[in-house]
Amino acid sequence: MNWEFCLICQAKEKPEPLKCPLDSLQDGAGIEAYRSFLNNVVEFRKIGSLPVELKLKEDISIEELCTYRAVWHKSCHLKFANSKLDRAQQKIKRKSTADSSSQAKKAKRQVSDQNVCIFCDEQGNDLHQVLTLEVDRDVKEMAVQMKDSQLIGKLAAGDMVAIEAKYHSRCMLAYKRKYTAYVKSCSETETSANDDSPAEARTLAELISFMESSAESGILLFKLSSLHDLYVSRLRNLHVDKSVNKTRLKNRIIEHYHGEIQEQTDGKNTVLVFSQGIETLLKDALKKRSCEEEAFNFVNVAKYIRNDVFQMPRFSFPQSASSNQYHPA
Ligand SMILES: [Zn+2]
Ligand SMILES: [Zn+2]
Repeated sequence: MNWEFCLICQAKEKPEPLKCPLDSLQDGAGIEAYRSFLNNVVEFRKIGSLPVELKLKEDISIEELCTYRAVWHKSCHLKFANSKLDRAQQKIKRKSTADSSSQAKKAKRQVSDQNVCIFCDEQGNDLHQVLTLEVDRDVKEMAVQMKDSQLIGKLAAGDMVAIEAKYHSRCMLAYKRKYTAYVKSCSETETSANDDSPAEARTLAELISFMESSAESGILLFKLSSLHDLYVSRLRNLHVDKSVNKTRLKNRIIEHYHGEIQEQTDGKNTVLVFSQGIETLLKDALKKRSCEEEAFNFVNVAKYIRNDVFQMPRFSFPQSASSNQYHPA
C-alpha cells in the first residue's frame, strides 16, 4: 500500500489527477467522504461484489486515512458511490433466487470492467450504458431467437443493467437490422419443410409419393380435405398430434410440384389437379428413386381417397381434367 498513489487502484501512472478529500474547503467534508467510502467498502464486501480489488487492509480506520491523507482518482472513488452500491445490492437481491455462482460473478466482472461494446467488443468513447430492463429483454429475445450463443453467453451473468453492459448505437442498430432480416427470412421459409419435425417431413414425403404413385396409375386429382385427413392420420400414427393448416399443406404440395399441380375450387371443395403429362414425368422420376416403399404406407387408405374423389358429382372441372383418368392427347 503506497499512500502517495490512489487509495483504490494504486496505479502509478494514470493521467487523471489525484484528489485528497481533506483538501475540501467545506468543514468536515473530507472526513465524511472517508467515512462514507469505508462504509460502502464494507457493504460491497458483504455482498461479495467489490467494484475493484482493494489493497487496503480490511480493518482500516478513518483516522488512518486522515493521517496518511489518502488520495484517490475521482473515477475510482465513483465506483464506490452510494448509487453504485444501491445497484449492486438490488442486483444481488434479484439474483439471490438463482445463479449467484462464483462463475457468474466472474463473468459479470469481466463484462462490466471492460469498457467495451457488448456487440463488437471494441472500446470507444461513444459507448452507451444499458439503463432499462426493456433494452435487456429486447436484446436477449433477439439473441435467443437468432441462437447467438456468443451474446447469450455474455448476458448469462445477469441482466444488462446489472452487468453495466455498454454498446455503440451503431452496433445496436446493426443488431436490430440483423434480427429484422432474420425474422423475415424465417417467415419466408415457413412454408418449406425446413422447420418441420422429422415426423412431419417424413409424412409429407409419404404423401407426395402416394400422390405420385396414384398419378402414375392415372389418378390426377385429389381432394384437399382427403389429403389433409390422410396427412393428419398418418402423423397421428407417428404419435404427432397437432392441427395442420389445410392451406399450408396445400401450398406446400403446390410448391413441391412447381406448377405441375394446380388448385381448383368450386367455393366449397378444393382439389389439386396434376397437369396433363405428369404421369410420364413421374414414371421417369420414380424409376430413379427408391421411394416406392414409402408410398405403400398409404396404399391401404388409397382406396378411400379414390372413392372420395369419385363421389363428388357436383364438382365440375374445367379443361380436360373432368375425368380422373388421363387420356393422352
Ligand atoms: Zn485510482
Ligand atoms: Zn460496438
